[in-house]
Amino acid sequence: MLSELAKPVMYLSGVGPKKSELYEKLGVKTVYDLLYHFPRYYIDLNEPQAVRDAPLNEQVVLKGRVVRKLPEGNIRRGLTVYKAIVTDDTADITIVIYNAGFMFKALEVGHEYYLVGKLTGNMLRREINSPQIYPVAGTDPVQPVYRLTEGLTQKQLRQNVHTALGALDGSIYEPLPNDVVREQGLCSLSYALQNVHYPTDMHTLELAKSRLVFDELLTLALGMLMMKNRSRDNTGCQMNDESVDEYFSALPFELTAGQKSAINDCIEDMRKPFPMNRLIQGDVGSGKTAVAAGAAYFAYKNGCQTALMAPTEILAGQHYDTLKAFLEPLGVKVVLLTGSLTPKKKEKIKAEIAAGEYNVIVGTHALVQASTEFKRLGLVITDEQHRFGVEQRAMLAGKGDHPHKLVMSATPIPRTLALMIYGDLDISVLKELPKGRQPVETYAVTGKLRERAFGYVKQYLEEGRQAYIVCPMIEESDSDLRDVKSYAKEISEGAFSGYRVGLLHGRLSAESKEKVMKKFKAHELDILVSTTVVEVGVDVPNAAVMVIENSDRFGLSQLHQLRGRVGRGEHKSVCILITDNPTEEVVQRLKILSSCHDGFEISQQDLKLRGPGDFFGSRQHGLPKMKIADMSQDMDVLVRAQETAKQILCKDTHLDKGENRGLRELVERLFEQETAND
Ligand code: ADP
Ligand code: MG
Repeated sequence: MLSELAKPVMYLSGVGPKKSELYEKLGVKTVYDLLYHFPRYYIDLNEPQAVRDAPLNEQVVLKGRVVRKLPEGNIRRGLTVYKAIVTDDTADITIVIYNAGFMFKALEVGHEYYLVGKLTGNMLRREINSPQIYPVAGTDPVQPVYRLTEGLTQKQLRQNVHTALGALDGSIYEPLPNDVVREQGLCSLSYALQNVHYPTDMHTLELAKSRLVFDELLTLALGMLMMKNRSRDNTGCQMNDESVDEYFSALPFELTAGQKSAINDCIEDMRKPFPMNRLIQGDVGSGKTAVAAGAAYFAYKNGCQTALMAPTEILAGQHYDTLKAFLEPLGVKVVLLTGSLTPKKKEKIKAEIAAGEYNVIVGTHALVQASTEFKRLGLVITDEQHRFGVEQRAMLAGKGDHPHKLVMSATPIPRTLALMIYGDLDISVLKELPKGRQPVETYAVTGKLRERAFGYVKQYLEEGRQAYIVCPMIEESDSDLRDVKSYAKEISEGAFSGYRVGLLHGRLSAESKEKVMKKFKAHELDILVSTTVVEVGVDVPNAAVMVIENSDRFGLSQLHQLRGRVGRGEHKSVCILITDNPTEEVVQRLKILSSCHDGFEISQQDLKLRGPGDFFGSRQHGLPKMKIADMSQDMDVLVRAQETAKQILCKDTHLDKGENRGLRELVERLFEQETAND
């Protein structure tokens, strides 16, 4: 990198120690960081609206001439109002400024200004309160708006960026190999940086942005692929060609085509000399466990142990039951190892595992962390791994004698996004649900119909079914949300008095959670009031109804995951989405769930409606944070970036070559930043 750019921002003329502290708060340490502190958005002054046509109560851009300045008025002590009349010859408008006398004084009669703000009043008497005012002469037509911190103004930041751009001036600083720039039709980096901060019009801005977005996604793709390559050391458990036909024929059902091909993908992977790194992605109920069992059976046939890890004891127990049912008839020994066993029992089981008496070991994640010794661990399967970050995956990859790894996830992410998030994994997708599965009937209703909805639930309870009622939060502070505790109390004394109501939320200890869940599973409870902790793959086939309160608070994908908790048995199932916020938009959104039962399609809709926040907001995937790329919008760039990354790494695995040095720096910067922030 240019040495000028690596300098602390403090040494930039016009910054100094005090301001550099403010910059630090924005995450800006060096001149480079400042150049990459991109505007949050832009105000385009190029096309002001005619005052006559400008809508009320919306942010508008106007351009007009000051006709008259009115005498200042004092509303009360300490509050002075300044007014001026402006016209653009289509209509007049009154500028209202509070207290900021200097702004008012700067206005000159007869001069033209851009005004940015909200219009109020009516069509006859329009006002604009505390607008941003720019003199037409000497103002750049596209104004960037930056994220600020107290003590720093837009103007100062803009000026400092200007100085920083000077450090680039005339240089040929270019981290991308020349042929990539050419093939992708990108502008130069210095042009991009110049124009992302100082665009002359929206077109140059687009050019600049597309360059920077490409850089960012290419860097991310390179990092993910390099991570994948890193875990490609030889495995200690390369497996031979052994058929798993017995497994297929012993199952009580016919596997779906997706399940079969996913199992075949696994088998093919495990025959290779380096470890498998595969993600099985399938909607709720698509039968991922049967795939996992198939892979485990293959490992067994090759004399290897399999460890299956689940995030909770309940899930571990569930997987244990399933695997046992599928595999024990075939002679496979399955064991459950969880924290709730007595120490003595645990020791015994551990000794037996080490002696190789078990082939498949099911347990919670603590299982691997604990010093469990295996006989010949060939396959590690993790469920719901999407809650873990990229780094944890990399860490796991470094453990043991490079066992094969299989990850199961129900997060229905569109394939392109999955490719990025799980860039270090190969993916098998289970597209269809097993035959005969009835979709969960879904209704969206307003709070007014709550009583009726409850009546409906009661019918199910009378027939011996069970129900979930999901409420988003436990916090009492958020007054418009129902707090689950008081909610549970309310309904158990009111609408559902006489029924057995249990409560499950995130603040309970793991032990208490397990207890409640076990009781629900054993049908010692009729209704389970819960926060979203119930989201993870719990299987209670007798639960056939779900009510979701405040459903507008959830993304569609999450709602879909939630309703996947019902409809797992032979009973007809229903999900009732209640909202007390029945705006047109909310209702439209919730209705999608009534007609659509495909998790992938729903997640696409979610992306369209809500943006990528659900996937990337909480950093639940552990991906580095993007500064300018928006992975839902820039999908095609994502694909191009990935292709390019593959081509580059194909010729230069570690980015050692001279022309790739700049790229390596970018990758290191992106991923290093991530670790520093955590
Ligand atoms: P998920 O993908 O949500 O983890 P599971 O593996 O828990 O789904 O499977 C859900 C249910 O469907 C289980 O009871 C399982 O036995 C059953 N199942 C799996 N595959 C099939 C199939 N091909 N045909 C019928 N039932 C199946
Ligand atoms: Mg599951």
